[in-house]
Amino acid sequence: MAERKQPVLGYDDTPFLPGGKWRVHDANRPQPRVVTPGATPGAPPADAVVLFDGSGLEQWQGKDGGAAGWQVRDGFMEAVAGSGDIQTRAHFGDCQLHLEFACPARVEGSSQGRGNSGVFLIGLYEIQVLDGYDNRTYADGHSGAIYGQYPPLVNACRPPGEWQSYDIVFESARFDGGRLVSPTSLTVILNGVLIHHRQASLGPTGNRILADYDTPHPPAGPLRLQDHRNPTRFRNIWLRPLTPYDAA
Ligand code: MG
Repeated sequence: MAERKQPVLGYDDTPFLPGGKWRVHDANRPQPRVVTPGATPGAPPADAVVLFDGSGLEQWQGKDGGAAGWQVRDGFMEAVAGSGDIQTRAHFGDCQLHLEFACPARVEGSSQGRGNSGVFLIGLYEIQVLDGYDNRTYADGHSGAIYGQYPPLVNACRPPGEWQSYDIVFESARFDGGRLVSPTSLTVILNGVLIHHRQASLGPTGNRILADYDTPHPPAGPLRLQDHRNPTRFRNIWLRPLTPYDAA
């Protein structure tokens, strides 16, 4: 019997995977799209949408559509008390988001008054930004909380003044008319530590409300950062829209 020729790339006699399009180890299955990663950890990969690189707020505006009132200096932006939330001009849906933040080095206030800001995915779902280092507050408002719903799995905060990172995977709720088909899902990593794992949100977040999905919303919206009257800083903000493998 002739020895079976060693395939170069894969096989054409293996079982079909669910869906029936590709076999196990299929030689003809398209190669994954190449994305050149950032040169250093946290730097934007080649296919990222860079929303803030430290130079200016061209991609941001106030909630009312006016100019973004935050300060930019030394490669970061800083919330200016009373200037209001800022949000991206562009809208985004399901995505991988990276950003870095620093709460004020000088500790003032307590609980929700310390370094408070927030990252609102599609303008509706707040991942809390707070100086959560040795700071007691209500658990579902701690740094990294899905605000008013789910505390972070652990407290992985760095001390005040230090730069910290969020890496977030966001999948928006889907509706069929007025009916919820799938809830919003959030995976959040703070400073390299998993703090939410595919957590289904109860609905758009809010203060002192029980969230729900009674009002359907679009699957995309602006990325919004909160002015909570504390001079919290942000830098290196980028995202990658989630695209399926077959879209390569
Ligand atoms: Mg907040």
